Amino acid sequence: MGALKLNNIEKTYPNGHQAVKGLSLEIEPGEFLVLVGPSGCGKSTILRSIAGLEELSAGEIHIADSRVDDLVPAKRDIAMVFQNYALYPHMSVYKNMAYGLKNRGYSAEDIDSKVTNAAKMLQLSDYLDRKPSQLSGGQRQRVAMGRAMVRNPKLFLFDEPLSNLDARLRAEMRLEIKQLQRNLGTTSVFVTHDQVEAMTLADRLVVLNKGEIQQIGTPKEVYHRP
Ligand code: ADP
Ligand code: ADP
Repeated sequence: MGALKLNNIEKTYPNGHQAVKGLSLEIEPGEFLVLVGPSGCGKSTILRSIAGLEELSAGEIHIADSRVDDLVPAKRDIAMVFQNYALYPHMSVYKNMAYGLKNRGYSAEDIDSKVTNAAKMLQLSDYLDRKPSQLSGGQRQRVAMGRAMVRNPKLFLFDEPLSNLDARLRAEMRLEIKQLQRNLGTTSVFVTHDQVEAMTLADRLVVLNKGEIQQIGTPKEVYHRP
């Protein structure tokens, strides 16, 4: 049984634009899958559908063995990391990471140990009292990662999380994300238009074109490079 299964999903927007055209895909537990393709090929639509932020026009989405497209987003055991970080500006780093846990009723002790632990892994231990505005771009991205990690979700969804960083930091964060995902073993779907990013991160990648799968395979198979 795959960790995530997209079964013939379709998405037509109200204006009649068909963004995803009958796409099927199965993702293995612990796999790092990258959706790559030019702007407008449907990457975000697919990711947002998995997250429950878009309603499908047809098809089904299963996580582990349950059908999830009927569940409200909060009931899906998913954490999403966005390009713009989506941090709460008025909250400290600590509270940004703790927020989702607090909402889910974890005890203060439990929250503290999860946040402290994630902060250590992400080299944020010295920054817990800062506001997002007092952090570098890379540190903000790490907070967004931390917020996703502490919930120990079944699935990480990444929506072009590195696009706002400069080239050097982007390369650095790529390695960090890959390492972190390996350590945690969390099944991940990562969206990008950047081939180098796709190649570096992916166990397997899906090349999309106009809402359809053009190619699917390991980076080696797809790009014919080691
Ligand atoms: P990508 O993430 O690959 O850039 P998207 O999934 O954002 O692609 O968009 C896929 C296609 O659907 C694009 O042609 C885009 O213009 C269109 N689209 C996205 N959102 C909407 C919407 N709310 N209404 C109509 N068309 C949309
Ligand atoms: P509120 O403003 O909602 O009362 P607090 O500032 O008291 O929130 O923080 C909520 C919880 O998070 C408290 O248990 C506090 O001890 C803990 N906390 C906040 N910041 C940190 C930090 N930098 N390191 C460790 N624990 C923290």
